[in-house]
Amino acid sequence: MKTRRDFLQKLAAAGLALPVLSTMAKGSAMPILDTTPYDGPMLRVAIMGLGGYGSRVAEAMQDCKKARITGVISGTPSKIKDWQKKYNIPEKNCYNYSNFDAIKDNPDIDAVYVITPNALHREQVIRVAKAGKHAICEKPMALNAAEAQEMVDACKKANVKLLIGYRMHLEPKTLEIIRLRKEGKFGKILFFQGLSGFRIGDPTQWRLNKQLAGGGSMMDIGIYSVNGARYMVGEEPVWVTAQETKTDPVKFKDGVDETIQFQLGFPSGAVASCLSTYAMNNLDSFFLDGEKGFAELKPATGYGPIEGRTSFGELNFPHVTHQTVQMDEMAEMILNGKQPVVPMDGAEGLKDMKIIDAIYQAAKTGKKVPLSR
Ligand code: NDP
Repeated sequence: MKTRRDFLQKLAAAGLALPVLSTMAKGSAMPILDTTPYDGPMLRVAIMGLGGYGSRVAEAMQDCKKARITGVISGTPSKIKDWQKKYNIPEKNCYNYSNFDAIKDNPDIDAVYVITPNALHREQVIRVAKAGKHAICEKPMALNAAEAQEMVDACKKANVKLLIGYRMHLEPKTLEIIRLRKEGKFGKILFFQGLSGFRIGDPTQWRLNKQLAGGGSMMDIGIYSVNGARYMVGEEPVWVTAQETKTDPVKFKDGVDETIQFQLGFPSGAVASCLSTYAMNNLDSFFLDGEKGFAELKPATGYGPIEGRTSFGELNFPHVTHQTVQMDEMAEMILNGKQPVVPMDGAEGLKDMKIIDAIYQAAKTGKKVPLSR
């Protein structure tokens, strides 16, 4: 896996590091590749759910300057042992799903990163908040807007932060397009297209279990187009329409969507046309069209490198490991109240859940569903 360390080493070897880094720092809100030494406070994080993505986050956090792993919460004792060794985690910072409320008495843990199946997020985040710790939660933050609202309320009541793992909100090419759009370079925005999908394998995995996933492709991958439509267009949608197709009802049972096409309408009159699917590969792109120009990201949301161009030229920013940047920036948000360019808090996650609820409703009823703002 490419890491920031690898990247910096390559740049240094090529004698390029400083020019590139200082160019990037200029005139952009990009929170990346800060090579200055850091001896300030660290965000001490316990990872909950030591699965595929939890492992990726942990690996990337090795390169963080402002965040580090100090604990784990897992239902699998053998994984706990492995992680203890790999990340030097003391026994007193290891928990399971029954006893993790005791983190409230653990001064080594500031925040818990919930990286478990979707259906578990609500209860786990609320318990983290009740333990007085900040919560970072993977997308989708919940199964629906009602659950998401409960999580936002619980964190507010406990006076802890709730952040959602929207790593694309910190991705350099994405941020550059947002900056250009805000500057009016593309003129009035007219259209967004988002394609988000992959062909899912193992039919027994939790992602295809309604109970644990809360739905199908829309919850897992379609959410990138929902979220992307909002940050690329720069408005909140006021209506949705949606159509569902299913070619394999055995693999994709009732309530588990295989493919949904959806459309969003924005107050300015801009529209979005998006596809979410578990049945096709090679679908990861965003296209934004305005009266004066366009922007394209392809791939748009994978782990990178993200590729992007606009009608004015290629976007040439170096690849960063998304999860390293995310955790360093989240440390700043939690410890110092830093505000990202595109919000990453519970309220932001709740907006996506409201839209996803409406997409499911529109697909089911065939009707245009208005969204309250
Ligand atoms: P995995 O199945 O790889 O891992 C989930 C882990 O959750 C398991 O390994 C297990 O860890 C724990 N777990 C607790 N209860 C259960 C249960 N009933 N069934 C299965 N696992 C359970 O999933 P991912 O890591 O891919 O996804 C986890 C979350 O992260 C999801 O919400 C997903 O949407 C999100 N995600 C986000 C990505 C992003 O780019 N932002 C990318 C991939 C996923 P343990 O054994 O330690 O208890």
